[in-house]
Amino acid sequence: MTAVPTAVDPAAAADPGTLDALAGLVRDGDVVVLSGAGLSTDSGIPDYRGATGSLRRHTPMTYQTFLRDPRGRHRYWARSFVGWPQIRDARPNAGHAAVADLQRAGLLSGVVTQNVDGLHQAAGARDVVELHGGLDRTVCLACGDVADRGELDRRLRAVNPRFGPHVDEVNPDGDAELPDEVLDGFVMVECTACGRGPLKPDVVFFGESVPRDRVDSCFALVEQAAVLLVLGSSLTVMSGYRFVLRAEKLGIPVGLVNLGPTRADAKVDVRVDASLGTVLPELVRRVAA
Ligand SMILES: [Zn+2]
Repeated sequence: MTAVPTAVDPAAAADPGTLDALAGLVRDGDVVVLSGAGLSTDSGIPDYRGATGSLRRHTPMTYQTFLRDPRGRHRYWARSFVGWPQIRDARPNAGHAAVADLQRAGLLSGVVTQNVDGLHQAAGARDVVELHGGLDRTVCLACGDVADRGELDRRLRAVNPRFGPHVDEVNPDGDAELPDEVLDGFVMVECTACGRGPLKPDVVFFGESVPRDRVDSCFALVEQAAVLLVLGSSLTVMSGYRFVLRAEKLGIPVGLVNLGPTRADAKVDVRVDASLGTVLPELVRRVAA
């Protein structure tokens, strides 16, 4: 150890002592990672849930509206159709690669993500528990059939040959701002398995509960872990925060890397307030290189 790396933004880099403490937590393994939207922002995916809009800009679609309002559902899919290529083409970043590296080094006993973008898996992580589901799949609300989102996209392109807004109408975060009359011109398709059911992205919407068996398997992972490591989540929703509370109750140390404050700042053992793309590769260098 001679010098602190200089090729990083000083404002985004954690101090070496804090990184040492984080490395000390992770070094002995049996770590469960809980990741959130902050891990994917470097991949061009904003705090993003529910398949169409960023949380910053829009009131997100709720589960109840999606089920009860056919017109709202239709407009949802129209926006989602326009925004899909940006999600599909997103690539994992240095943070995702670092998590896969920690797993390959045998230090992780589980990876739980609140993200629906599939980028952990794209970086090579295995057995990832998608707490809120994944945008790469659809589920039929009538028969429950789960199908590939890419296949739906091909079907939608076939029946919407001219439904493609100009590029400048799509925000950098893949969120299409389109007038309602344009959205209403979109043609939606139904489930191919039953021929009638409306489709929903296989993600947990606001107002929808995470399936109980999925929650239970995440609790089991946390309860057996030596350390819980939260990456890129402000833990504002109970869906993720409850795992920190469980770890705290059981005396399991919690490490947290997030740019900005979080709901759990007072509860964690090591907190690194810095860019994940800087901290996580450095963590790998310290514990798994
Ligand atoms: Zn169906």
